[in-house]
Amino acid sequence: MDEIDCAVIGGGVVGLAVARALALAGREVLVLESEGAIGTGTSSRNSEVIHAGIYYPQGSLKARLCVEGKQMLYDYAQERGVPHRRCGKLIVATSPEQAGQLDAIRAKAAANGVDDLALISERQALEMEPQLHCVAALHSPSTGIVDSHALMLSLLGDLENAGGMLALKSPVTRAECGPDGIVLIAEDGTALRCRSVVNAAGLGAPALARRFEGLPPSAVPREYFAKGNYFTLSGRAPFGRLIYPVPEPGGLGVHLTIDLGGQAKFGPDVQWVSSADDLVVDPARGDGFYAEVRKYWPALPDGALIPGYAGLRPKISGPGEPAADFMIDGPASHGVAGLVNLFGIESPGLTSSLAIGRHVARLLADAEG
Ligand SMILES: Cc1cc2nc3c(=O)[nH]c(=O)nc-3n(C[C@H](O)[C@H](O)[C@H](O)COP(=O)(O)OP(=O)(O)OC[C@H]3O[C@@H](n4cnc5c(N)ncnc54)[C@H](O)[C@@H]3O)c2cc1C
Repeated sequence: MDEIDCAVIGGGVVGLAVARALALAGREVLVLESEGAIGTGTSSRNSEVIHAGIYYPQGSLKARLCVEGKQMLYDYAQERGVPHRRCGKLIVATSPEQAGQLDAIRAKAAANGVDDLALISERQALEMEPQLHCVAALHSPSTGIVDSHALMLSLLGDLENAGGMLALKSPVTRAECGPDGIVLIAEDGTALRCRSVVNAAGLGAPALARRFEGLPPSAVPREYFAKGNYFTLSGRAPFGRLIYPVPEPGGLGVHLTIDLGGQAKFGPDVQWVSSADDLVVDPARGDGFYAEVRKYWPALPDGALIPGYAGLRPKISGPGEPAADFMIDGPASHGVAGLVNLFGIESPGLTSSLAIGRHVARLLADAEG
């Protein structure tokens, strides 16, 4: 049977960042990706926003890894020439009730170490973005956007330069965890013995972990999928910054993001679905977007929204439940030597990717003494 030191299952931005961190720490690493290319999952179906770290509960992994990851990502992108822009964002209150929530958002951000949010008046907001309607806003100068594909290619380059390898079209179907390591079994029956395994299979991570013999079933959370639909705007972007309404349960509201090419898109909304393959945007959902967007951009013309794409949030909390934290479980949590499972790596997973990579590498190094 073939043997390897570390296998990372999943070649999305998180799996690649973990693999890079392990390879830079001197370990022999193989990334096993089921598809024919890297980053075809959630990593290419998101908003590409570098989040500041505003909304997450203090002390959570999301808060810590987002704030650390944001800085690591800006530094990395700068150093490696990964296209990005620190464009800033406005969180806009469109009613007096919402204006009352802005202070709480700023306090939450400050508790996470994000102390650069500025409360601005309607007049100041309009000076920044003349087409905006709001009664007050928070300005986040450290929010930005990044080219996620260029980021993933750069991470892969680092991995390969450090001696790591990528195997495409290599779906892992199950594993056997024992005292002599973890044996991964591929679809064609091929077996690979690994000292360490990182399950970074995104939407498929919980289902795959349930097929890990030796891993207690209680160590695997139930998965839920919350689809986020985007509608793109025909014509020029009306704003230079990202525009977010005050958050809604399950997501950040129908916000406006721009990509590095200047294309504006609205979304993602929140639509709970039962299948990880449900990625079609129903054009009828656009009807609901017009009313939401016009709360902060009244000039949105009729017919300007075009169905774009959708991404699925790999949730581990269901509709109506409080949002779960990232679940990054090593041997100390589940008792299987050499295994780290990553569950619920929804937003801000892209922003946090480099910090998650460092965190997982440390978790394995600590567990292995
Ligand atoms: C709508 C939406 C918007 C978002 N916006 C943002 C944002 O603006 N900023 C931000 O920071 N984050 C954002 N996120 C979150 C971010 O996109 C994710 O956290 C991140 O992409 C997760 O990366 P990943 O590598 O864990 O998962 P994925 O990209 O899904 O990668 C998992 C990989 O594993 C592979 N795989 C699955 N099963 C197997 C198997 N059995 N064997 C081998 N390979 C397998 C898949 O093919 C896939 O390539 C958003 C997410 C969504 C859904």
